[in-house]
Amino acid sequence: MNILIINTGSSSLKYQLFDMTAAGVLTGGVVERIGEAEGVLTHKTYENGEVKKNKITQAIPDHQAAMNLMAEQISHGIDAVGHRVVQGGESFKEATLITEDVKKAIEANNPLAPLHNPPNLIGIRAAEALFPGKPQVAVFDTNFHQTIPEKAFLYALPYDYYTNHRIRKYGFHGTSHKYVANETARLMGKNPGDVNLITLHLGNGCSISAVKGGKCQDTSMGMTPLAGVMMGTRCGDLDPAIFGYLMTHTGLSQDELDEVLNKKSGLKGICGYNDLRDIHDKSAQGDTNAALAVDMFAYQIKKYIGAYAAVLGRVDALVFTAGVGENDEIVRWKALEGLDFLGIEIDKAVNDVRNPKPHTIHTENSRIQVWVVPTDEERQIAIETRGVLEKQ
Ligand code: ADP
Repeated sequence: MNILIINTGSSSLKYQLFDMTAAGVLTGGVVERIGEAEGVLTHKTYENGEVKKNKITQAIPDHQAAMNLMAEQISHGIDAVGHRVVQGGESFKEATLITEDVKKAIEANNPLAPLHNPPNLIGIRAAEALFPGKPQVAVFDTNFHQTIPEKAFLYALPYDYYTNHRIRKYGFHGTSHKYVANETARLMGKNPGDVNLITLHLGNGCSISAVKGGKCQDTSMGMTPLAGVMMGTRCGDLDPAIFGYLMTHTGLSQDELDEVLNKKSGLKGICGYNDLRDIHDKSAQGDTNAALAVDMFAYQIKKYIGAYAAVLGRVDALVFTAGVGENDEIVRWKALEGLDFLGIEIDKAVNDVRNPKPHTIHTENSRIQVWVVPTDEERQIAIETRGVLEKQ
């Protein structure tokens, strides 16, 4: 069974085709700069351990055109399509076969994710036109977090803000947290239901989750992906009064402030750079704000580890994933140092060695295991898409 995975952003389209029998990726790619004067498609085919790359540069006016261009590159048959959809709200607790009603429900969640859900829906409609009659499945970033209990997902606001306006924590990166949680349990030789994990997805966007027996208990992102630990350009948790204070005292409009909090804050706000490779370089050259940004970031991660250890009661393993989690030994070290009292002991020499495969970085004496596990959201979406089809 060949399953095509589609992930549409506001100006991009990522895709991967999985052969679920051999559990391999057949082909995949990315279309970038959709809607700009010059778009780019980068397509890769994997055959007998070889990668063939094809790049096309031309105007790609919209997502339908991007999908058409993608389809022209794929010579394999397609049995089903799995879509990443960012915001499922409370309507979707698991991956779902897409029907007219499901599309309406996704649309009803647009106000909660105005930048993400509309392009996701365009991707769904374009795929339906391209592959008529093939089943389409939606896998929501919010699915995995739907097990978070009310005491953890509610904000302490008037209760009717929740019932009338759907104000609550939804959490994001759920597909990634679920993938690495299951994968880590497997690597530990356990069932996901038998382990308690703290999963740390640290990329441009960052979120940390407390996962008890395979079920998410809490996560650091909130109603939107702006909450939690500071990120590349996003501020993370703030005193909510700061927003009104800044509107009054800077004259910035709500839209301008939104832009500051989403695009000009986080690591970038503190030191001017959002990529940790640049930040470490600057820090090594004596840039004190770059060093401060790393210290703040690691400190905030450490606080979430402490908080989620308390939420879980027993922690079997921490799991680092995504661009920073998988590659940045400095952030991992700083976030974990001094946590021996919790039973976390890192082998610095092992932590310092880059290893693209799943591996541990804890010492023999560490009570809590510490794993670095590359995430694979597309594979998780493919697994869940197949699961939905098997139930039909
Ligand atoms: P996204 O949220 O965009 O999917 P990624 O998971 O790809 O993000 O993470 C991107 C971030 O990962 C970069 O901004 C960079 O800070 C960090 N990163 C990637 N590779 C490395 C590396 N080798 N060393 C340190 N940081 C890295």
